[in-house]
Amino acid sequence: MIVGVLGLQGDFREHHRVLQQLGVESRDVRTADDLDAVDALVLPGGESTTMARLMDWYGLTEAIQRRGREGLPLFGTCAGLILLARDVRGGHPQGLGLIDIAVDRNAYGRQVDSFEADLDVAGIGPLHAVFIRAPKITAHGPDVDVLAEHDGVPVVARENRILVSSFHPELTGEHRVHEHFLGSIA
Ligand code: GLN
Repeated sequence: MIVGVLGLQGDFREHHRVLQQLGVESRDVRTADDLDAVDALVLPGGESTTMARLMDWYGLTEAIQRRGREGLPLFGTCAGLILLARDVRGGHPQGLGLIDIAVDRNAYGRQVDSFEADLDVAGIGPLHAVFIRAPKITAHGPDVDVLAEHDGVPVVARENRILVSSFHPELTGEHRVHEHFLGSIA
């Protein structure tokens, strides 16, 4: 199995590091051809509007949408979660509509735009999470499983083969969320 990491902007290197440490082969995905060569795709944290623009330029928007609908396993962290969402408040970026969640990019506000929290994640257990200008999941459809909440707000969610977290497991030496993702698609 080869796991792709969307390598246009953001903390894709950190995702490669986690995957490498888990003994999984990973590759940057920057073009639709790159996407054809992978069996799963991670969308990193970063700046979702920039990533969305670059995805358009490189012809990846429709390619990811198509393969996502065909069942390609996808894992989005923070900005990656925003990219995968059905509805992004304000419409910037648009969201690929691959997971039935609505998100508000700035809902945590300025004061607490970065914070840490201890979570209990279903299927994983206790986990320390780092949120950096995190998006808030404000609504989700009936087929979305919420695996963890913080203050009553979903922060890890899954719909079929698509997993999202509003925090950054890739930045804290945390491997279990990636492991969970890989386990669910094996
Ligand atoms: N606030 C960023 C955005 O809207 C996401 C932040 C992150 O990925 N750490 O794209």
